[in-house]
Amino acid sequence: SSYLKLLEENRLLYNQVQDLKGNIRVYCRVRPFLPKQSDRRSTVEHIGENGNIVIVDHNKQGKDARKIFAFNKVFGEKTTQSEIFSDTQPLIRSVLDGYNVCIFAYGQTGSGKTYTMSGPDITAEETWGVNYRALNDLFEISQSRQGIISYEVSVQMIEIYNEQVRDLLVVDGSNRRYPFILLYIRNYSQLNGLNIPDASLVAVKCTKDVLELMKVGQGNRVVGATVLNERSSRSHSVLTIHVQGKELASGSKLRGCLHLVDLAGSERVDKSEATGDRLKEAQHINRSLSALGDVISALAQKSSHIPYRNSKLTQVLQDSLGGQAKTLMFVHLNPEANAFGETISTLKFAERVASIELGAAQVNK
Ligand code: ADP
Repeated sequence: SSYLKLLEENRLLYNQVQDLKGNIRVYCRVRPFLPKQSDRRSTVEHIGENGNIVIVDHNKQGKDARKIFAFNKVFGEKTTQSEIFSDTQPLIRSVLDGYNVCIFAYGQTGSGKTYTMSGPDITAEETWGVNYRALNDLFEISQSRQGIISYEVSVQMIEIYNEQVRDLLVVDGSNRRYPFILLYIRNYSQLNGLNIPDASLVAVKCTKDVLELMKVGQGNRVVGATVLNERSSRSHSVLTIHVQGKELASGSKLRGCLHLVDLAGSERVDKSEATGDRLKEAQHINRSLSALGDVISALAQKSSHIPYRNSKLTQVLQDSLGGQAKTLMFVHLNPEANAFGETISTLKFAERVASIELGAAQVNK
């Protein structure tokens, strides 16, 4: 009877997944004002039903001052981490049914990307971000299917900085890995969803294992960085959870991949001020973010040519962007009036990604 229950669960799951109309979704999340901020004028004037958001330019008057954008969903500043996750959950669960899924966090530095993906405080479970909740969920569900499907889960963590891929799960730059959690490293060059054959793939048994690995990865991320935030906001980090399932009765196999991608800050660097390394970084970031935008927008428009080759990021994620794969992008907004310029450019990116319409707001004030 447990098998039948599982089938029923699966059916509901598939329905839910199908409810995520189309394979590309864009969600917008507005972060609250931070305690120390004195200027409390918000550029977010209104969040409507059906994913609309009205942005106001405080330096302009009347109708010209407002623009309306539409997303699959908009989450206001009061949205909790658990509310964010409940909308993401069906997507994550589909990984165990053999789908490839990418979840991106996009936005300028300080807009809340890390908050959404990781959360502010790992010791406070209610503040956990999408990453930890997703892992818990994956392990819980795979446990509940024990005896029916057996799952093997492994993790890869890389950083893309200036179009170079770095393995974040290597200790001391050597091949010595993690005896404390390492169960095996398999030859996975033939696996789908993983296009970085020489980066470590580490087998894990539970969320705690992954948390350990993420700590190692975070530590490796800052090696060579002058300031912690500098480096992590100037590079893309990709945490990949690879799942292999085997149905015990039939012996049939499935594979799924979940990529959790914390993108580099999208802020434009003032070209007149940036020089040397900073300018190079900025150019790489601009190029790779727009390459990502081009790929997603080509997919959304069902274009026959998808330009994966234009950046490392899109190459790495190629198997998980398009086809049956599912993409969710969280676009983050900083509501501060002085962030207006970046907010508009973030929204324009999102508009392109999701073929979202932009127009003058029909708001009577
Ligand atoms: P990013 O990763 O985009 O640079 P962070 O996630 O570090 O931005 O967020 C910047 C600051 O705003 C942090 O202090 C973070 O705790 C706070 N913050 C971001 N989003 C929220 C939120 N939804 N609720 C409360 N605080 C938030």
